[in-house]
Amino acid sequence: MNATLSAATVLADTAGRRPDHPALVAGAERITYHELWRSARRYAAVLREEGVGPGDRVALLLPNTPDFPRAYYGALALGATVVPVNALLKADEISFVLKDSAASVLICDTALTGEGARAAAATGTTLLTVGPPVVPAAAGTTRTAGTAVAAPAVGRALDARAAVAAPVAGWVPRAPDDIALILYTSGTTGRPKGAMITQLNLAMNVGTTVLAPFAMRPEDVLLGCLPLFHTFGQTCGMGTCFRAGATLVLMERFDADAALALMNAERCTVAMGVPTMFIGLLEAAARTPERPPLERVYSGGSALPVRVLEEVTRTFGCPVFEGYGLTETSPVVTFNQHPWPCLPGTVGRPIPGVEAEIADALVRDRIVLLPPEETGEIVVRGHNVMAGYLNNPAATAEVIMDGWFRTGDLGTKDAEGVLTVVDRTKDMVIRGGYNVYPREIEEILARHPAVAQAAVVGVPDERLGQEVCAVVVVRPETVTDGALAADIIAWTRARIAAYKYPRRVEFLTELPLGPSGKVLKRELAARFGS
Ligand code: ATP
Repeated sequence: MNATLSAATVLADTAGRRPDHPALVAGAERITYHELWRSARRYAAVLREEGVGPGDRVALLLPNTPDFPRAYYGALALGATVVPVNALLKADEISFVLKDSAASVLICDTALTGEGARAAAATGTTLLTVGPPVVPAAAGTTRTAGTAVAAPAVGRALDARAAVAAPVAGWVPRAPDDIALILYTSGTTGRPKGAMITQLNLAMNVGTTVLAPFAMRPEDVLLGCLPLFHTFGQTCGMGTCFRAGATLVLMERFDADAALALMNAERCTVAMGVPTMFIGLLEAAARTPERPPLERVYSGGSALPVRVLEEVTRTFGCPVFEGYGLTETSPVVTFNQHPWPCLPGTVGRPIPGVEAEIADALVRDRIVLLPPEETGEIVVRGHNVMAGYLNNPAATAEVIMDGWFRTGDLGTKDAEGVLTVVDRTKDMVIRGGYNVYPREIEEILARHPAVAQAAVVGVPDERLGQEVCAVVVVRPETVTDGALAADIIAWTRARIAAYKYPRRVEFLTELPLGPSGKVLKRELAARFGS
């Protein structure tokens, strides 16, 4: 097969079609498609001067600024493989990623050179910086609060060189199986694993989701509050937005009140995020009468409680579409493709060309598919499944077998092919020999009038093995005391089987969140399990 592809066409094509349409809004900056693609090609010119060519790995340590798409599409235009690095990592963790991916260059925001420069030096990776010079925190002029480090002038300034560079002419064609991205999972068990995403994976995932009836449209304005280094913000947010020719409004760090104000100011028509962001936006909306002109809301990354879906629909007056996906599946697997109203609590059907089935979770060495309505492990087959984990054939063999990818998620499928995610296998609680799925209890807790947010985890119990513990964030001005805890327990007890309801309730002012805004259950389990 001689077919060629390039993930850079996502931006290049749109720059040809809609050169003067705004691609990006970042603070006071407005950047058209023509300008963005030209500056990406200038970044590519500097990378080429540094010796980067097809197949080389270019790591990015960048927050949500215009430099992210410039560096990302610039590297892709050269045919290089992009390795986005979680901007919250420390030097040792970054070093692991640089070494494992054999990155030749690290493009690092000056606000992050404290960790990035150390990692680049430790691994012998060429460091190229972007962003304004960072001055010591005491001077009070640093750009990003909280990340101020008195970093010496390190690395070579990529952006200054790019400003005077002649842009490369276009993009280098690649084969469908060539690796476009290496995306590191956070590595809850052991070392992070680099999921290798091919050119075909990316082209098909962006291409098929942009064709969905409820997909992004050219006149849309999308709030880009998800981190661009994570697959959700990167491919579903930036990728589909640019493919559609819409406008992406960048936000460096999610803050619910600021996000709502930004959506109002920029007249956002689409919001995309994880459920914790929508819970925050609902609270922010209760503090102001202003409403952005939202037409669609996309939720993914973790289960959206039905109560939250209903409140978002009511508060913002628009439908909510929930999708399901993973880093390893580029990322979208299914989407609620029903005409609105969809089936709340489900994640819909697979995108075109992708199959999602339920397999027996206990059979580990092969895939045994189960009939409709049975609960088992969700397995996925199709153009979205990664090529494997970089340098890790053993981990790859554990998840890709008989042509299927094992997601590690439990789910069910109805006779119509609609998928429901039951829970993650690793989050399931086994209480006295009975399986308890936290998500089911979280749905009930979310409907308690005092509960803003809830997470259910298993904690060690001498007699039962594990006990069910509900960790609750209450709504503003609610008194947290023994009476409320008892009331919450009674609320769940009245609604689910006796073996499932939580015997223990803990209150927190906020839940610990990972880089993409998901609740870190392992932290809660560790905190309340000892
Ligand atoms: P890491 O692997 O990096 O530790 P992670 O497991 O969250 O983090 P991601 O690839 O970011 O990895 O997310 C994929 C997971 O998110 C899925 O396996 C699933 O558990 C969860 N998920 C995604 N969308 C949904 C959804 N709509 N409903 C329920 N769970 C979801």
